[in-house]
Amino acid sequence: MLLNGKTGLIIGLANKHSIAYGIAVACKEQGAELVFTYLNESIKKRVEPIAEELGSKKVIPLDVMNIEDMDLLKERVENEMGKIDFIVHSIAFAPKRALSGDTINTTREDFLVAMDVSVYSLIGIVQRLSPIMNDGGSIITLSYFGGDKYVPNYNVMGIAKSALQATVRYLAVDLGSRNIRVNALSAGPIKTLAASGIDDFRNLLKWNERHSPLRRNVSIEDVGGSALYLVSDLSRGVTGETHYVDSGYNIIGMPKDATVGD
Ligand code: NAD
Repeated sequence: MLLNGKTGLIIGLANKHSIAYGIAVACKEQGAELVFTYLNESIKKRVEPIAEELGSKKVIPLDVMNIEDMDLLKERVENEMGKIDFIVHSIAFAPKRALSGDTINTTREDFLVAMDVSVYSLIGIVQRLSPIMNDGGSIITLSYFGGDKYVPNYNVMGIAKSALQATVRYLAVDLGSRNIRVNALSAGPIKTLAASGIDDFRNLLKWNERHSPLRRNVSIEDVGGSALYLVSDLSRGVTGETHYVDSGYNIIGMPKDATVGD
């Protein structure tokens, strides 16, 4: 029981396909007590029964673009849990129109929304919640390979993930002296609500399956296993890093079966 006696906040549960769900199940199985956030009233109806299944009646509203929600976050988490040991930040958003075609067409408005929800939110949340985190605390966020290298249609979200991974490094230094760690978990492509916003996502799944060393895509359970390592004391010496759970796809420079046509 790696997380016995530990309490965690899970941000980004929408349904049972969410990466946050895979992580929450893994944490619960290892003894953690969890509190969940929900984006809006319709998502609340789905989050409440899932939270209950995971032994928690604790759900709080959080739209990171809503300043009131952000400012009430510390109080709401404190009311439910007192202090917390870990935070899972598993949210991102960009308007669908920004996730197809060429990056050169990205509007300023879409860029700012993507950066606000997918990157700044980590700073805003950590700013408010790190004062109520225990010594040895751990914060993780979800990234994707499209932040390291070009991936078709990922566009502004690739730029956001790159910024997110940099944010992790800077926050890790800020919080290191308090023995709180911050890491990113870069997951391979998984069919979720958020992923359905990316144009031709099916093709991305097929490409990864074919060209990753393990010759398969990862599941939310696979991501849950890696998250468990990062939120538990097993990774107590690890901070500011991006850890990959993508069937080894990130190590591929050129696919083994690549051919050059005439
Ligand atoms: P998901 O749709 O299940 O989760 C996204 C969550 O973001 C939802 O719970 C949604 O409510 C929340 N959200 C969106 N806007 C918000 C806002 N303004 N305030 C608060 N919450 C908001 O999809 P997912 O794939 O599980 O995404 C979780 C994370 O994993 C994201 O950061 C995503 O970029 C990342 N990721 C996904 C994949 C993939 O292929 N699915 C791969 C690597 C990384």
